Amino acid sequence: MQHLILLASLFSLCTSSSDWCYPSQYSCDNQCNLPEFWNHANAACGGRAQSPVNVVTRKTVPDGRLTPFHFHNYQQTFRSSMKNNGHSVQVSLSHLATIQGGDLMTGYKAVQFHLHWGKSGGPGSEHTIDGEQYPMELHIVHMKQQYTDLSTALADPNGIAVLGFFYEESRSANKKYEHIINALQKITETSSNTSLSPISLEQLIPSRQNLTSYYRYKGSLTTPGCTESVIWTLFENTIPLSKGQLQAFSNLRFHNGMPMVGNYRPPQPLNGRLVYRSGAAALLAGAALLVASVSVTLGLSQSR
Ligand SMILES: [Zn+2]
Repeated sequence: MQHLILLASLFSLCTSSSDWCYPSQYSCDNQCNLPEFWNHANAACGGRAQSPVNVVTRKTVPDGRLTPFHFHNYQQTFRSSMKNNGHSVQVSLSHLATIQGGDLMTGYKAVQFHLHWGKSGGPGSEHTIDGEQYPMELHIVHMKQQYTDLSTALADPNGIAVLGFFYEESRSANKKYEHIINALQKITETSSNTSLSPISLEQLIPSRQNLTSYYRYKGSLTTPGCTESVIWTLFENTIPLSKGQLQAFSNLRFHNGMPMVGNYRPPQPLNGRLVYRSGAAALLAGAALLVASVSVTLGLSQSR
């Protein structure tokens, strides 16, 4: 009898689970909804304005309204806890950091941040630029300042603003990330959390003068329910982390014990949406040429 009950429960685990998942956590024992089937449980995931997307830089549209952001309380240090939520590592924010400007119609307050990464420092970002996938992507999730809960913000087509940052492998370790990297060891198991030594949002992202170049488009959450209520901003300048720091994220585990790697959704069709770029977000090759010609004109080039 006990065997029968065990069998029955295994069977139900194997067939009736409608939990969403990434391909890296799919196994016979853990049949779950892969990204291409997320729309079965959440119709919005099959919508026409989904995220992430691949940004084709030569098709981006320059937009003079995409001015530099005003960051408030980004420099303030805060205490928080970091959690393995079964899909990512997430830090909740309660210290009222806000953003304004950048053609946002109102102020947005930071609610949480989390990351998406690959396997042992391999490709793992959600958005791609000209087909290039970066090793990791940071999402700082904001909601309109006037709202007090996320569900109200999600019901507003412009309720959420996510700032996305890409990482790039660097030779030396990024000291500003030491607290976060060290804390990862304490949350390898799903649902575990640990207190985080005081950090600021500012220390996690490029310096302010390097935040003027960015891409903008309208999209969705990249996890179910995939709600299409997100104003996306993707910054061109990357955050450096060493190979070892990037690899540390692969020690986390999904709830079934498999390594938490490849927790990114593949790019979704634009379906006619335009991606805009800030005045400063020039095509990189063009920007390099321009700098070269200006320095030649001004006689700044040291070799001359
Ligand atoms: Zn995300």
